[in-house]
Amino acid sequence: MATDANEVTLAQTASKTGDTIFTKILNGEIPAKFAYKDDQCVAFHDVNPQAPTHILIIPKKPIPQLSLAEDEDEQLLGHLLTVARKVAIQENLDKSGFRLVVNDGKHGAQSVYHLHVHLIGGRQMGWPPG
Ligand code: AMP
Repeated sequence: MATDANEVTLAQTASKTGDTIFTKILNGEIPAKFAYKDDQCVAFHDVNPQAPTHILIIPKKPIPQLSLAEDEDEQLLGHLLTVARKVAIQENLDKSGFRLVVNDGKHGAQSVYHLHVHLIGGRQMGWPPG
């Protein structure tokens, strides 16, 4: 399991090109615990959860990171937030609240270069984030 510190270290050396582990999950080559699937995206539980509920929502389209999305991806980006809302309700997070996070690039501590929205909940969050 990656700790906070080595998750950041991992992010410093993460490959920005080629297939990622999320491509393998989308292709069914490695297992994941799915929470949601549709024609544009899937959601599955994070293997190293940072809270009682930690789910990743990813597009099937392999956009490496938010800053490399294009204007034509506007509908898809909105869809990811819509799915995040639906999964949050499905996981009973809507009454107490939850947090969505998109890490981008080195300073954002992104470690997997396939766009994903973290849905994190089930405990009190702090601010500012680390
Ligand atoms: P980020 O640091 O924003 O790029 O987040 C990548 C996330 O992917 C981390 O929270 C990892 O724990 C998670 N992750 C990496 N490999 C897997 C996997 N095989 N299944 C589920 N989550 C994963």
